[in-house]
Amino acid sequence: MSTESAPREERPYDISELRSAPSLVMVNTGHGKGKSTAAFGTVLRAVARGWPTAVVQFLKSGNWNTGEEKVCRELGVQWFSAGDGFTWESDDIDETKAKAVAAWDFSAQLIAGGEYRLVVLDEISYAMTWDWIDAADVAAALESRPEKVSVILTGRDMVDEVVEVADTVTEMVKVKHAFDRQIRAKKGLDY
Ligand code: ATP
Ligand code: MG
Repeated sequence: MSTESAPREERPYDISELRSAPSLVMVNTGHGKGKSTAAFGTVLRAVARGWPTAVVQFLKSGNWNTGEEKVCRELGVQWFSAGDGFTWESDDIDETKAKAVAAWDFSAQLIAGGEYRLVVLDEISYAMTWDWIDAADVAAALESRPEKVSVILTGRDMVDEVVEVADTVTEMVKVKHAFDRQIRAKKGLDY
């Protein structure tokens, strides 16, 4: 069914009033599966249009070798994981926190630099809910980003400050998850 035939009252605007935005901020949150999957699906669209694209992973567990990293690298996506190649100076804080802080500093530069048209900040929500990075700083960086830089932020329980500045926010709701039946993450489907 085309949008033209959708009942008029379902749209809060006249279709002739649609405008195009130079970029968007999107959030994939919630406790259901699909937040990162949807972000990488969007990466495919960006790559298809020739957009320079970068992914920063805020949580990385050991040598977790994901299919998305493999194929994104093959597609020319710049891929950065917290702890890989980022340096930090303070040694009096928890290493995971230090990595997240460094990953955010790096991400803020990626966004402000304007070199990428899509920047994915995967699992960034945890760094804000645990107060490792300041949600207000993230919101400010999103608001002051270069015109053509779109950003996707993923992770459970996205903070209000980021939801506030985002254009599109999707909450994945868990109806069922295989994990609840003791089925471990499946290569090819989950990573
Ligand atoms: P995906 O990467 O599959 O899109 P996600 O980004 O929505 O998942 P994360 O919190 O990043 O969710 O989860 C990482 C891993 O945990 C993935 O293997 C995913 O399948 C699994 N997972 C996601 N949601 C749940 C859930 N509600 N219960 C158990 N495991 C989950
Ligand atoms: Mg995820």
